[in-house]
Amino acid sequence: MHTVQVETPGGHYPIHIGAGRLDAVADSIPADATAIAIVTNTTVGALYGARLRAALEAAGKPLLTIELPDGEQYKTWESLDRIFDALLAAALDRKAVLVALGGGVVGDICGFAASCYMRGIRFVQVPTTLLAQVDSSVGGKTAINHPRGKNMIGAFYQPLAVEIDPHVLATLPAREISAGLAEIIKYGMIADAGFFDWCEAHVDALRALDDQAIRHAVRRSCELKAWVVSQDERESGLRAILNFGHTFGHAIESGLGYGQWLHGEAVGCGMVMAAELSARAGSLDAAAVDRIRALVSAIGCPVDPPGLGADRWLDLMRVDKKNEGRRIRYVLLPALGQAEVRAVDDDVVRPLLPGTAQS
Ligand code: NAD
Ligand code: MG
Repeated sequence: MHTVQVETPGGHYPIHIGAGRLDAVADSIPADATAIAIVTNTTVGALYGARLRAALEAAGKPLLTIELPDGEQYKTWESLDRIFDALLAAALDRKAVLVALGGGVVGDICGFAASCYMRGIRFVQVPTTLLAQVDSSVGGKTAINHPRGKNMIGAFYQPLAVEIDPHVLATLPAREISAGLAEIIKYGMIADAGFFDWCEAHVDALRALDDQAIRHAVRRSCELKAWVVSQDERESGLRAILNFGHTFGHAIESGLGYGQWLHGEAVGCGMVMAAELSARAGSLDAAAVDRIRALVSAIGCPVDPPGLGADRWLDLMRVDKKNEGRRIRYVLLPALGQAEVRAVDDDVVRPLLPGTAQS
């Protein structure tokens, strides 16, 4: 087992990475916990709920399971209320511990529920998608969606621990693996050129979920994310570099309608576009852009942006949280392995934005 330590003002906690961690989650339940509530969804609950329950019985506490419907469309106030209803019906007190078993949707809702129930109770993340293992379970962002926007209602709230068992990825659909790999290669592009080289060399092993390759990639990704959030827990500066590819990616997701492309697929394509912009508006060399496009394609993500029309692209990108005023700010790569956030004039970006017959 590997341990990566996360140190933020909001909490210090370990990320445990290793085969069999699903059966050892009781290690992360504090002795003074009065009860444990597992929050999961119907899909993940059916696959791993019984195993986790059996493992948690070792903690010797009253145990409750709350199963939500599966899907981003249920990342809502209603789901949050279902959790509160179940916790109150079982009379769980402030020393109860929540355990999030699932992907980013379950982790984000459960974390937010933990941040509000009785003004805050402890929780443990057990991420079961590749994206959740390398991204959403680490760093303490929790949220639900509002009809007017994704992740609009939430809190920064750090877990007690993150328990990552790479073996649970065996049941994940291939598209979800590709989407998680997009966030993994992102860390190499923005912060560790050596890790980018390693990803290029191990892309087949990663897609095949080779044990050693996945363990290394998850560990390095968690280390890099932990390093970024330890310096900027609440995204007042450095943390924004984690949004590399996301300005274009979010425009793809909302322009095509959420759910058409997976988030990681949109980010994959968005990273190719952001690399092209880094060459056009900055100092990234053409060879690095080619390597980024080739790696995004090799992990199984699309590299050709959809035709939304340049004006629509720009409108969609103007709603990004990084912006100040009307100028759009982008995460750019001065070189492979380095990132900076900078505003770029629309005229420089336009040639990268494919139009449609209608536009
Ligand atoms: P998800 O949680 O919807 O999971 C994807 C699908 O895989 C779901 O159908 C899920 O039921 C299924 N699944 C999960 N684990 C499985 C397994 N082991 N085997 C088979 N199926 C499994 O999606 P996601 O990509 O994990 O997370 C996306 C969410 O994460 C979004 O809501 C996004 O806003 C959020 N997010 C949060 C952060 C953060 O910092 N908090 C960062 C990135 C993304
Ligand atoms: Mg992302």
